[in-house]
Amino acid sequence: MPGEFKIIERLRKAAGRPSGSLLLGIGDDCAAFRPAPGFETLATSDMLIEGVHFRVSQGLGAVGYKSMAANISDILACGGEPLYALAAVGLPAKGAMRTALSLYSGMRKCADKFGVKIIGGDTVRSDKLVISITAIGEAAVGKTVTRSGAKPGDYILVTGDLGNGAAALKQNKAWLPPLRPQLSSKLCGRSLVSSMIDISDGLSSELYHLCEESGTGALIYEELVPVSKAALNLAGGIRRRALSAAFLGGEDYELLFTVPAECLGTALKLGRKYSKLSVLGRMLPVRQGVKIFCSGKAKVIPRGGYDAFY
Ligand SMILES: [Mg+2]
Repeated sequence: MPGEFKIIERLRKAAGRPSGSLLLGIGDDCAAFRPAPGFETLATSDMLIEGVHFRVSQGLGAVGYKSMAANISDILACGGEPLYALAAVGLPAKGAMRTALSLYSGMRKCADKFGVKIIGGDTVRSDKLVISITAIGEAAVGKTVTRSGAKPGDYILVTGDLGNGAAALKQNKAWLPPLRPQLSSKLCGRSLVSSMIDISDGLSSELYHLCEESGTGALIYEELVPVSKAALNLAGGIRRRALSAAFLGGEDYELLFTVPAECLGTALKLGRKYSKLSVLGRMLPVRQGVKIFCSGKAKVIPRGGYDAFY
């Protein structure tokens, strides 16, 4: 692609010199880094396509920020510390350099905020804008948190408020997910969490993922679900309507996790220090299904539809 090398040169300059555990950064065939002794490496990747996952009108800087945040969020959801990212971008030929620089400035803003170094990537020509980021992080050996460790009786918690991502998409606005690195690191470092996932596709599907991987059911309480102000405003102040943004809308990148009963007090104390934390309900034996308590009854949460509750 014409200009590819110019783009890489600009990115390399912006990234600065390798230091610390990073041995080789942007510009060579590979990046090289040395994992810390006693740590295991975590890797994740996420692809976003124009018109499917974002619109250019949301602002390229914000799109870049969000695409980086989505990957960092996955590392946090495993209890890891995010360290590096590789960013591959497919760019329409028209205005490719400008597009690349705006996107990368958003990616860097997010990466810098969470202590992540961009250590490589690729640019190609593409009809639509395509962004694929790979994030690399690490967790102390044995401290990586999975989706599969929840037990019946564990409490289900969520950080922050839900529905911000969906509201922003609907209003064609930028949304910069807050992410919860301190809380995730404290909770997981102290082994308080039995299972965890980040909310990229809405509360319904993430709760199902935790239950399926852990082999449990769940009961959550509708009145305990923290709905964002943005979703509430968009729903004309009607909470029940706004709840669909929390259950089905994605891209909130809050953390949904479970803690054993004896760890709940400590987890809530950490929540008061680092981020809003809400208890939603408890895990149940698998035969009891995945349910929500609303209007005086426990009802099965439909996988793909929230309106079906009523
Ligand atoms: Mg995830």
